[in-house]
Amino acid sequence: MDMVVRTSRAPEAGETLFGQDFTLSPGGKGANQAAAAARLGAEVTMIGRVGKDAFGSELLEVMRQEHIHTEHIGQSETLSTGVASIVVDGEGENRIIVVPGANTEMGPADIAALAPIISQAEMVVLQLETDLSMCAHAAAIADRHGIPVILNPAPARALDDAFLQHVTYLTPNETEAGILAGMAVNSIDDAEQAARILLQKGVSNVIVTLGPKGALIVNHAGSLHIPGFPVQAVDTVAAGDSFNGALAWQLTKGKTLDEAVRFANAVGALAVGKKGAIPSLPQLPEVEQFLQ
Ligand code: ADP
Repeated sequence: MDMVVRTSRAPEAGETLFGQDFTLSPGGKGANQAAAAARLGAEVTMIGRVGKDAFGSELLEVMRQEHIHTEHIGQSETLSTGVASIVVDGEGENRIIVVPGANTEMGPADIAALAPIISQAEMVVLQLETDLSMCAHAAAIADRHGIPVILNPAPARALDDAFLQHVTYLTPNETEAGILAGMAVNSIDDAEQAARILLQKGVSNVIVTLGPKGALIVNHAGSLHIPGFPVQAVDTVAAGDSFNGALAWQLTKGKTLDEAVRFANAVGALAVGKKGAIPSLPQLPEVEQFLQ
């Protein structure tokens, strides 16, 4: 749950200020990505955990409203629902503290118990606001059953090659690609170089998202830049999440990677044109109209 306070400036240590407004908005990369795919028509099962608190109940309700299967979202007896405390100052600068809470409670053993569910999927989508060893285990189970894995490596964290070898599609943004590859990424050429380093670690395809410039596909066959769609950006929250949900759905529909990335660019562009995370995610007819 994102708790957002707007203020003219951030307080100093020991200082109390009046802020301008406060909003609560359902968020989290996993929830946003699940909702993005579901809004386009995908049948989505979410695996995760919330707390036994008001935020947990609300997030479960939001997922149900998005027609996402919630029976494998557990509720922790002891830990709170994951929250992000976000202070936005008058310059639009964010200061964010994330408390992952119940998200950290799930480990490899919980995922092993869900192997029968995972093995029925057409695609497994992972992000890193959870326990790393759990994600790695989910990727290994999917790989063993020949199921493609999308890993959105956000927030960027050091990843073992053993994990990356199970990843079919790695989708960092430019900053994350730079951190994972250990180099600065300031151009499309840099992004390609970083992607090649990640391919060497065992990933099958790297798709670097480039904000308004779209995305770059790099694999052993070569590289291809798929340009973004020019739009007036209102709020870039959930751009990457909407891209990942759309990519997953398109690939399960049998689209080629080039087609899927072009479609995901359209979904990302529509999401940045509206405020909020889940409220900004487009439904399929809106995307189809945009692409005409
Ligand atoms: P993240 O949100 O993870 O930082 P990006 O900023 O790269 O990721 O955005 C993800 C995708 O959303 C991009 O690949 C692009 O398709 C789309 N996108 C993001 N920002 C814009 C923008 N200003 N105009 C058009 N499309 C955008």
